[in-house]
Amino acid sequence: MKYDLIILGGGPAGYLAAERAAAGGFSVLLLEKLNIGGVCLNEGCIPTKSFLHSVKLYDAARHSKGYGVQAEQVTFDHKKVVTRKNKVVKMLVGGVRATLAQQKVTVVTGSGRISGRTAEGFIVTDGEQTYIGERLLIATGSEPALPPIYGLKETLASGFALTSREILQMESLPDSLVIIGGGVIGLEFAAYFQTAGVDVTVIEMLDHIGGPIDREIGEWLYKALKKKGVDFRLSSTVTEFREGAVTFSQNDNYIDVFCDKVLVSIGRHPSTADLGLETIGVEMKGAAIVTDAQCCTSVPGVYAAGDVNGRSMLAHTAYREAEVAVAHMLGEQDSVNYNTIAAVIYSSPELAGVGETEESAAAKGLDFRVQKCSMRYSGRFVVENEGGDGLCKLIVENGTERLLGLHLIGSYASEIIYSAVLMLEQQMTIPELQKTVFPHPTVGEAIREALFQA
Ligand code: FAD
Repeated sequence: MKYDLIILGGGPAGYLAAERAAAGGFSVLLLEKLNIGGVCLNEGCIPTKSFLHSVKLYDAARHSKGYGVQAEQVTFDHKKVVTRKNKVVKMLVGGVRATLAQQKVTVVTGSGRISGRTAEGFIVTDGEQTYIGERLLIATGSEPALPPIYGLKETLASGFALTSREILQMESLPDSLVIIGGGVIGLEFAAYFQTAGVDVTVIEMLDHIGGPIDREIGEWLYKALKKKGVDFRLSSTVTEFREGAVTFSQNDNYIDVFCDKVLVSIGRHPSTADLGLETIGVEMKGAAIVTDAQCCTSVPGVYAAGDVNGRSMLAHTAYREAEVAVAHMLGEQDSVNYNTIAAVIYSSPELAGVGETEESAAAKGLDFRVQKCSMRYSGRFVVENEGGDGLCKLIVENGTERLLGLHLIGSYASEIIYSAVLMLEQQMTIPELQKTVFPHPTVGEAIREALFQA
C-alpha cells in the first residue's frame, strides 16, 4: 500500500503531524509500536501533572488554616492518584484516536522499520506488512538514558531501581526514595513524593539543580524543595546500585544512601536504534537525527520531529516541529524558532523561563541588564500565597531595549510564560511592552511591574 506520508511514532510529534498532513489532503499511515499519545500522554507530561495536581490539593488542604479553612484528618491515597491518572490518560488517548479516525489517518499498531528506497518511495515494514511512503516522518521519540553504572541493570530487573515509566505505575508509596538527577523530571517527582510523605534524596552531579534554567530561579526552587524536606546531594556522582542502597562519590568520599526505591532520571536519548535509517543514509549525530529548522533531514523527503532529533526534548517543541515539517511537505514557508521555546518545571512552586538566562547572556558577551521583581507586587499572588514569595526576572538588552529573556518562579508560572514567548517572538522592546494592559488582579501583573521597573 502506498501513502503520501508514513509516520513512525504516535507521540505528540507523530499524531499532530498525522492530523495536519491529513487536513492538508495527504493519505497518511501512522505506525505506533505501543500507545498512541507516546511518552507525553502515557508516561510523561500528563501522568506527572495528574500526580502533581493531587499532591497540590493535599498540600492546600493541610495548609488551609491561614485562609480560614479548617480541614480535619486529611489523608493521601497514592493508589487512587494512580487510578485517576490512568483515567485521565485513557480519556486523552481516546480523544487523539478519535481525531485521527475523523481525519481518516490509517493507524497501525506495530514497530516500523525502514528497509530502503525504490523509485516509488521509501519502504517501511512492521514485521508483517510492507508499506511505501512518498515521504517519511521519523517521530520515534526518546527513552530514559541508563548509564553503565555497576548494579543498575540488576536492580532495574529486580524492581528496586525504576525509570519514570515504572514509577508512574507503582501502586504504593515507598518510605524513602532516592532520585538520581536533579533535572526537570527528577524535580517534579521530588516535589510529588516529598509532599506525599516520602523521604526524598536527590543526587545531582552538578553543583546546582535544574540544568540550564536561570541559576537564581533554580536556587529559589532548591530552597523551596529543601524547606519541604528534600535532601539534596549536589556535586555527587552515583557509582553503584545494590538492593536497598545507592553509593555516590562526593569530594573523593564514597557515601551510601539506604532507600526503598531509586528513580533513575538522568536524561533521555533519542530512540533511533534499529529503525533502518542507515538504509537510506540519514545523517546522525550520535543517536539523534540531524535536522534543520524546517525539520528536514539530510535525505530529501525524510523529516524528523520531536525528541528523536535531540534538539529540545519537550512536547511543545514536538508539536511545533510536527507543524513545521508538514508545512514544508505542503510547500509552505515555516521554521522552528528554537530561541523562544519556554522551559517549565511544574514543581512546587512552578518555575518557567524563556530566552536568555543571566548565565547564557553573559556567556554570549551580550550587553544586558537584569531587572528583578518580587511576585508579591501582584495582589493576586499575595491573596493566594499566604506568606509565600516568588521572583520575576527580566533580561533586557541595553541600547535596543529588547527583552531577551524572562524567568518566573511562583504560582501559574507555566500559564503566564507564553505571554513572554510572544514578547520574545515579536522582538518587543521595554517601552512597547510597558503599554500593555494586564488584567487585574492577576499573578502576571508581576511582569508588568518588572517591565515598569526596567
Ligand atoms: P514520544 O512521545 O516519545 O513518542 C514516540 C512514540 O514513538 C512512542 O509512542 C513510541 O512507542 C513510538 N515508537 C518508537 N519507535 C517506534 C517504531 N520503530 N515504530 C513505531 N513506533 C515507534 N515535556 C513537556 O513539554 N512538558 C512536560 O511537562 C513534560 N513532562 C515529562 C515528564 C516525564 C516523566 C517524561 C519522561 C517526559 C516529559 N516531557 C515533558 C517530555 C515529553 O514527554 C516529550 O518531549 C514528548 O513526548 C516527545 O514527543 P515525541 O512525539 O517526540 O516522542
